[in-house]
Amino acid sequence: MVARLAGDDRTWDFVVIGGGATGVGVAVDAASRGYSVLLLEQSDFGKGTSSRSTKLVHGGVRYLEQGNLSLVIGALKERGILRANAPHLVHALPFLVPSYQWWERPFYGVGLLTYSLLAGKRGFGRSAILSRRAALEEVPTLRQPGLRGAVRYYDGQFDDARLLINLVRTAAEHGAVLINYATVTTLTRDAGGSIAGVAFTDLESGREHQVAARVVINATGPFSDAVRRMADPRATPLVAASQGIHLVFDRSFLPGHSAVMVPHTADGRVMFAIPWHGHTLVGTTDTPVESAALEPKPTNAEIDFVLETAAQYLAKVPKRRDVLSAFAGIRPLVRSGDSRITAALSRDHTIHVDPSGLMTITGGKWTTYRHMAEDTVDQAALQAHLPKKLCVTRTLRVHGATTNPGASGPLAIYGTDAAPIAAIMGAEPELAAALHADLGVTGAEVVWAAREEMARTVEDVLSRRSRALLLNARAAIAMAPRVAALLARELRRDEAWQREEVERFEALAHGYLVDP
Ligand SMILES: Cc1cc2nc3c(=O)[nH]c(=O)nc-3n(C[C@H](O)[C@H](O)[C@H](O)COP(=O)(O)OP(=O)(O)OC[C@H]3O[C@@H](n4cnc5c(N)ncnc54)[C@H](O)[C@@H]3O)c2cc1C
Repeated sequence: MVARLAGDDRTWDFVVIGGGATGVGVAVDAASRGYSVLLLEQSDFGKGTSSRSTKLVHGGVRYLEQGNLSLVIGALKERGILRANAPHLVHALPFLVPSYQWWERPFYGVGLLTYSLLAGKRGFGRSAILSRRAALEEVPTLRQPGLRGAVRYYDGQFDDARLLINLVRTAAEHGAVLINYATVTTLTRDAGGSIAGVAFTDLESGREHQVAARVVINATGPFSDAVRRMADPRATPLVAASQGIHLVFDRSFLPGHSAVMVPHTADGRVMFAIPWHGHTLVGTTDTPVESAALEPKPTNAEIDFVLETAAQYLAKVPKRRDVLSAFAGIRPLVRSGDSRITAALSRDHTIHVDPSGLMTITGGKWTTYRHMAEDTVDQAALQAHLPKKLCVTRTLRVHGATTNPGASGPLAIYGTDAAPIAAIMGAEPELAAALHADLGVTGAEVVWAAREEMARTVEDVLSRRSRALLLNARAAIAMAPRVAALLARELRRDEAWQREEVERFEALAHGYLVDP
């Protein structure tokens, strides 16, 4: 990617800042329309919020309760589009809303029937009211005293970082240049004072670059205002940052194939317990934070809150010592008058154009990334007087898409990439073995990540190309030396690099452990 840029002094139609769902979505949309696109990410793709979500492709049951029908219908439509375009990554998941009060089943039953009907022909499954016995058959670990039954509905589940990497490849296949570890430091201006490009630092080589653009898109999520301040130090903040955490446990806490949804936690939110990659993922919280960090930390209060809520619904009560990994992410919510109550802020997206011409796209959610990108590219093309080209992403298959992903067994999540990964295993059988007994990640996947998916560090491999760090931080730490050795072989690094990488990763991974 860096080589593609060298010696290329064209004016790009689009320069996109930020390699999360929003920025990469814009790159896919613009490149597939035929515009030239350069995307710059200061860290790794997905290092920000986009690898730290609950991993649901959903309409948002909560917004239905808030009466925001158009938001729900729009997101349900996107949910269906995404499953059609990335069937290797998105699947339907049953959710049980357990009921302990007499009114809960009829109340949530009607609401969730409406939810399933709103999806129309793109539905993921009809909701149903379950007896106590049927509920326990489906989720045997529901807390039993007082349980009357449950309402079952369906939503989508995915792997956020894997979808992101596949979208990076989709954009690249349409001619976009996307570079990780490239920090935008300055916005450059034309003679009239409008933004006309960016200066960025390639963090690996230390080299500075300047590129010209017809339009610069700020897709930096929780960091949007910092980039806007590069154009105007007095810019009024657009984003309210809100932290959400997840705790990961082993499968025994939720052994079946269904998730649990708690519609009302003590702070008026929803909470989920979800089976994910052979583990149990529980979250999330909504804690306003002053500023965004690239590596946010779960607070003790958040950890206790998630554990206390889970204890009210699960028979096997999770404790601090059971937490295999704890991770936090920052929601980039669009500010309204009183942004202290972030749970009440809209999850809709906003496109904001500063007087300098800098275009910021923020808010929304993973589920709606495609729609956000379509709106942004439409607006940006108008602003930059680009020739009109129609959006094609409604039917654009995401890299790896296959209608029969299950055929690839443990590599199913790679879709059509499963075959070349299996070929690496065939060529070097020792790379077919799992790197840790508790997680399925193999050496071949590390090699693949380095060769084909722009993984540059141990963290890239263990946190985002595989999900080892988020599933089991101790196991990930144990795998780090072997991952460093494989990466060093692929990227031609020396032993000092390997040692530094392992040390750096261990220090980071300790932030995912919870004190008992
Ligand atoms: C706890 C939690 C749970 C969620 N669960 C769900 C869910 O289940 N389903 C759903 O649909 N949505 C969910 N969301 C929302 C969703 O994850 C976000 O809306 C989405 O990931 C935001 O993506 P983004 O690209 O805007 O931001 P980010 O992913 O944060 O990307 C912004 C990127 O910009 C980069 N950047 C910043 N400054 C610069 C610079 N100067 N130069 C270059 N790059 C820069 C950052 O490094 C970062 O990678 C959840 C969010 C949270 C926090």
